[in-house]
Amino acid sequence: MFLKNALDISHRIIEMIVAKGDAVVDATAGNGNDTLFLAKLVGLEGKVFAFDIQDMALENTRKRLADDDADKSVILIKDSHENMDMHVPKGIKAVMFNLGYLPGGDHSVGTKAASTIKAIEKSLALLEPGGVIMIAVYYGGDSGFDEKEAIMEYVKSIDYKKAVVLVHEFVNQINCPPIAICIEKCS
Ligand code: SAM
Repeated sequence: MFLKNALDISHRIIEMIVAKGDAVVDATAGNGNDTLFLAKLVGLEGKVFAFDIQDMALENTRKRLADDDADKSVILIKDSHENMDMHVPKGIKAVMFNLGYLPGGDHSVGTKAASTIKAIEKSLALLEPGGVIMIAVYYGGDSGFDEKEAIMEYVKSIDYKKAVVLVHEFVNQINCPPIAICIEKCS
């Protein structure tokens, strides 16, 4: 299957936008799978700024990158993504959010609406025109519905002259299938 889930959609769109040498952000490093995906896309000439608030996530990401010999272009940052402007220069090509909690970790330390929305705002400011933000939003179960609802309300309010927002939703699946939100900064 070409489009398996929200994360897959995020990867497919980012692959179309990001090229070798670009600078990108992984806003939720977790176990490092998306950081590795981004590191391979930007190559040794590019840069990946990967954020997480948990030591365990950053350690898992560090190991994941080292196993694939892909750590050279990655900067791991222990800070909330809402502070990304303190670590990341302007001119970013893509920002990836994979929301929720660390698989295999503490389910109570998941992403939260207020900080996620601040981080999306900062991502938009750091993004170069034509760049994209991809957000895989999990809801239901331990993630609840608050974050999804707040993010949807926020992205609908983004000025259409500033960015285009597209929501990908699987409408015939069971158990709250995650949605993928794509925000493209206008040129
Ligand atoms: N992208 C990851 C991967 O490939 O394995 C999965 C990410 S996991 C679903 C979500 C991660 O977001 C968790 O590791 C959690 O610690 C992190 N997180 C939660 N709040 C955060 C915040 N404010 N800033 C940065 N990371 C945060």
